Amino acid sequence: MNDIPGFNSVIVRYGEISLKGKNRINFELKLKSNIEKTLEIQREDFSRVILKRGRIYIKGIKDVPELKNVLGIYSYSPALEIKKGIEELEKEVVNFFPVLKGKRSFRVSCQRLDKKFPYTSVEIERKIGEILFENTKIPVKLNLPDLNFQIEIGEDNIYIFFEKIKGFAGLPYETAGKLVSLFSAGIDSPVATFLMMKRGVEPVLVHFKITDKDREKVLKLKKKLEVFTCGKEIELYVIKRDELFNEKFSTLYNNRKFYPYMCVLCKYMMHKKAGEIAKQVNAEGIITGDNLAQVASQTLKNLFVYTTVSGFPVYSPLISFDKQETIKIAKEIGTYDISIMKSEGCIPPKHPKTGVSLEVFNKILEETGLE
Ligand code: ATP
Ligand code: MG
Repeated sequence: MNDIPGFNSVIVRYGEISLKGKNRINFELKLKSNIEKTLEIQREDFSRVILKRGRIYIKGIKDVPELKNVLGIYSYSPALEIKKGIEELEKEVVNFFPVLKGKRSFRVSCQRLDKKFPYTSVEIERKIGEILFENTKIPVKLNLPDLNFQIEIGEDNIYIFFEKIKGFAGLPYETAGKLVSLFSAGIDSPVATFLMMKRGVEPVLVHFKITDKDREKVLKLKKKLEVFTCGKEIELYVIKRDELFNEKFSTLYNNRKFYPYMCVLCKYMMHKKAGEIAKQVNAEGIITGDNLAQVASQTLKNLFVYTTVSGFPVYSPLISFDKQETIKIAKEIGTYDISIMKSEGCIPPKHPKTGVSLEVFNKILEETGLE
């Protein structure tokens, strides 16, 4: 929706960054540059982007840009920017009568960023509300009005807008550093990766391939995550599972002794490899989609065995999630439909070991000859 007469700007709000002390300016500048990159990709015609007192303003813009996927944005509003002053505001309101006449009810909400402005928010709301009502006779409704006529008194200008479009909030992409992400074709790891990206992390994806179909899914999922990177490609390593197991996978899988340990062994090998790649690419840790007790391999004992092997910290943001919470996010970011596509990936053992102690595991590992 953009029925703002004279639309010429966008207000961007970014909540959380404004809390940061000294680092704040770096986060703000990164967000600003990520917004500029996004505008360029969308070929938007605009004059400039400025940073002012906890807000970013896009000025002289022709069309409403799509900023929902710029991480770090709390909300944004297509707006009309006008000169600062109560007379200017009163004069401009006239152009909004036609819009208002198409509505069932309205209210005026004012916020002052400039506390020195000679009128309080309530005074402005009353003044403008009166003008709008007198000239249109559209009734005022404070609770859930058909149109919320919003005014922001900024440092340099006044803005009029109707809506606040919600972003994903969090922190700007590429402000935290790099992590290697263990990336399957399932539902969880893309969501886990996204949640870390939302904290500013740049992921390097590592996928252990069993089938080509999985790899295809992984490529599609990567594309979905690249919606949030402001045009930057996400690095992806694809390694055959057989290679990970020194071509011993089938032999071990078909051995009655090792068969129940295959899940833990597999995760152990994955983490070990992820650690090697993390060193290579200068990453500072590993992301997984692990979720406590979701499947047999994800017990505390098993997690102990495999999340400690790489020597890197392991971040598993979904560890305490209910599956429904994860699915909700997967749908929001568009990975769900790809993740649930059929694939004949791994077939876990019928009765996998759920609580392997480090001692037992080390013995098994030695017997497999994998180390
Ligand atoms: P997901 O957990 O992503 O839905 P999944 O259910 O197939 O996939 P799990 O067995 O739950 O995988 O494994 C837990 C985690 O281990 C995954 O979230 C992912 O981080 C990692 N992992 C599993 N399989 C692979 C793989 N083939 N390549 C890379 N990482 C993997
Ligand atoms: Mg899983």
